[in-house]
Amino acid sequence: MIRIPLLFVAFAGIVAAQSGPCLADAFLDVSEAPGAGPAHPRPRVEANCEGDELVVRSNGIPHYEFVQVTPNPLKEQDYEFRIPSAPQRAGAPTPIPLLGSIGFAVNGVVIFGPNEGPVPAEEQFGDPVFNAIMDACMGHTALEYHYHAMVQKCLSNGVKDGDPSPVLGFGFDGFPIRGPWGCADAECNEVLRYRSSWEEVREPHQDAWDAYEYVEKDSREYLDACNGHTGPQGDYHYHVTETWPYILGCYAGPPVGRGNRGRRRPQVSEAGPGRRPPPGGPGRSGDRVPRAGRPRGGPGAGPGRPSPEEVRAASEALSKDEATVAKALRVEPGGLKPVNLAASARTLGVEPGQLIEALGRSEAPRRPRQNQAPPGEPECFFRCGQSEENAVGCTLTPDHKVMCFRPCDDNKCG
Ligand SMILES: [Zn+2]
Ligand SMILES: [Zn+2]
Repeated sequence: MIRIPLLFVAFAGIVAAQSGPCLADAFLDVSEAPGAGPAHPRPRVEANCEGDELVVRSNGIPHYEFVQVTPNPLKEQDYEFRIPSAPQRAGAPTPIPLLGSIGFAVNGVVIFGPNEGPVPAEEQFGDPVFNAIMDACMGHTALEYHYHAMVQKCLSNGVKDGDPSPVLGFGFDGFPIRGPWGCADAECNEVLRYRSSWEEVREPHQDAWDAYEYVEKDSREYLDACNGHTGPQGDYHYHVTETWPYILGCYAGPPVGRGNRGRRRPQVSEAGPGRRPPPGGPGRSGDRVPRAGRPRGGPGAGPGRPSPEEVRAASEALSKDEATVAKALRVEPGGLKPVNLAASARTLGVEPGQLIEALGRSEAPRRPRQNQAPPGEPECFFRCGQSEENAVGCTLTPDHKVMCFRPCDDNKCG
């Protein structure tokens, strides 16, 4: 049923020559590519170097046949991304957000982190690759088509497996993401397949960040916690890997966020212009999409990340030692995982509401406020059923829709 779109690679040429540090020439020319199919708009992506920025405008439509694997239709977007063309490492890495985009590919499609969202009901925040809800290019639709992993042959112009990989995308910190292969030495006498240093500690069907741990490795083919390294040419970049976190495990440089149409970085949230963070409430406060364009500190900083005082308060209230609580909240020293209070509550064996109270945070309303859904939209909609009965929660999707979810029978509701 899922066909590997090989044909299009012959059509995907390279946008004209531009040398120097700005990598606008890494983008595919999708104008002659087959596109997503007759029912969909043509793909569009354009990359330019403007000042000290790489500016990318695209409509988020894949340049190869769209094969639907979730219930969500393919929708045209209007993206404008701005990243530094000469990215810099930060003193400490920054966790990527639990939900929403973290970068973009050379065909203009957005890249998400390695975990899925709060659906399907039985597999909340699981590893979507493990849960087999990705197409052959490791993309699928939520409200926008996005990648959770990347396949080099889908995003390169016929580069052979085993040859040094081209750039397949960029993180919002500006660092390029290369395919799996890279030169081991400056003369490229040897090519290595780079590997993730994250290890699976249990089946990642749910709360995938708790199912993997970063374990530093000695061998040169292993990448750092962010899934990157400084290559033999002295430049830092990420590599796509076969296993978790597939693309980025964290940001090595300060993320500058994503700009949408007509907006500039400082005014725009990662969830898009004018969008609010998801409504809070049990199990959902941790799902907030951090705002981009704001300076963010290292681990422990950022919206929604529990502070040391909150960790202390929770440890007292729950009568558990501080280190256990910090680890469950994913804010232990050196921790780089995105916060997810629903998963933390599960780890600690308490109800999400109890954890929120223990943190000293006020319990947010269970129901989304009326003004959080756009006019004319139903207040809630369901992917797994048609009625509000047994709803276990609501969240705000990246497309500003309130989505309610409840246990479903087939576990395959995307
Ligand atoms: Zn997804
Ligand atoms: Zn490399």
